[in-house]
Amino acid sequence: MVNIGYKVAAAPKEAGRDIYELIAELFPICRSITGNGFRQTMDVLKRYIPLEIHDIPTGTQVFDWTVPKEWNVRDAYVKNSRGERVIDFQKSNLHVLNYSTPVRRTVSLTELKEHLYTLPEHPDWIPYKTSYYRDDWGFCLSHNSMMRLQDDQYDVWIDSTLEDGALTYGECLLQGEEETEILISCHACHPSLANDNLSGVALAAMLARHLGPGRRRYSYRFLFIPGTIGAITWLAHNEQSTNRIKNGLVLTGLGDAGMITYKKSRRGNAEIDRVAAYVLKQAGQGHKIIDFHPYGYDERQYCSPGFDLPVGRISRTPYGEYPEYHTSADNLDFVSPEKLQGSFETIMKILSILDNNRVYQNLNSKCEPQLGRRGLYRTADGHKELALLWVLNLSDGKHALLDIAERSGMSFSAICEAADALVEKGLLEEKTK
Ligand code: ZN
Repeated sequence: MVNIGYKVAAAPKEAGRDIYELIAELFPICRSITGNGFRQTMDVLKRYIPLEIHDIPTGTQVFDWTVPKEWNVRDAYVKNSRGERVIDFQKSNLHVLNYSTPVRRTVSLTELKEHLYTLPEHPDWIPYKTSYYRDDWGFCLSHNSMMRLQDDQYDVWIDSTLEDGALTYGECLLQGEEETEILISCHACHPSLANDNLSGVALAAMLARHLGPGRRRYSYRFLFIPGTIGAITWLAHNEQSTNRIKNGLVLTGLGDAGMITYKKSRRGNAEIDRVAAYVLKQAGQGHKIIDFHPYGYDERQYCSPGFDLPVGRISRTPYGEYPEYHTSADNLDFVSPEKLQGSFETIMKILSILDNNRVYQNLNSKCEPQLGRRGLYRTADGHKELALLWVLNLSDGKHALLDIAERSGMSFSAICEAADALVEKGLLEEKTK
């Protein structure tokens, strides 16, 4: 049983290993924003957490967007005139332009090249490209492989379907003592890419598994959604209940070797922004805190002005700032159990402070109460005594425990323990909203 409370906030030691193994299991699946690969991924997650699966039909209007046709692919290749597969989906699912229309034809090298994507600056890597929301077909391959293609007639075969179907997403709600929610969201629509997006998916799943049986104040809602269209679809279908979201985090890119980067919510001073900054500062390791900007992952939707939810984003090196991003080099060697463990522990600390960050009212606020008489000095060392005095002094119904920890320079757990002791002696009462 893992309580989210500060007293037992330590993350399990094997979390990083478990997350890594889940990434490795999910890695080969060809995912996209819709289709069987996404469903198969949800089926794997269901082994770890109670996941409710939603299927929203193609054509459903979601704000300014429409749920697209469902895409599935069975095979894809380019064969030369000798019948050799010079590009083969079976070797890497990145080879097919994600969402390619079906195609079966014979083309010249010149025509073929109009449909090929490479990365000349990293000639051994396969890029990850998509053709969402436009009809196109294509292949991605290493620049070196493309350079080896000779003048020839090529058989092109993409055995895909784009049909009416559904957009699938997974949702896991861990009920807490309160209806108020913490939202944890990750995109799960990329094929074989480890850091973006499987590190977020696997970490979120392990987080839900570890929090599942414990006690917690807030309810935790985990969303495993296709990027952009998934967040828009979820918001369109849950608009009325978004006012329950008190704080939230978008998780992605948590397994690379870079330092942890927190991107603030649009509000910039939400509780999540302050707690994340506090945890990163306390950790005493290199980290970065960046302001909100309207680009990136699904924080774009959660923080759109019509919602303006207090949702930040946590990752290591931000997308686009590492060359492996959206290429075949974002593989199982690019992420490590150690870095995943570090990310997991940081997120657990953030959630644990959020869950315990209460506002209290000093019930004896005219001069100090006599602590000795209540046995609070006898057991207390100087440090504990100081924590009691800080909590008593600042608990005027306006300062939360994090404010007191920050102002006193004392640890959040010391402040939290002092508040518990004072509540027990009837000197403090939680302020209800
Ligand atoms: Zn991505």
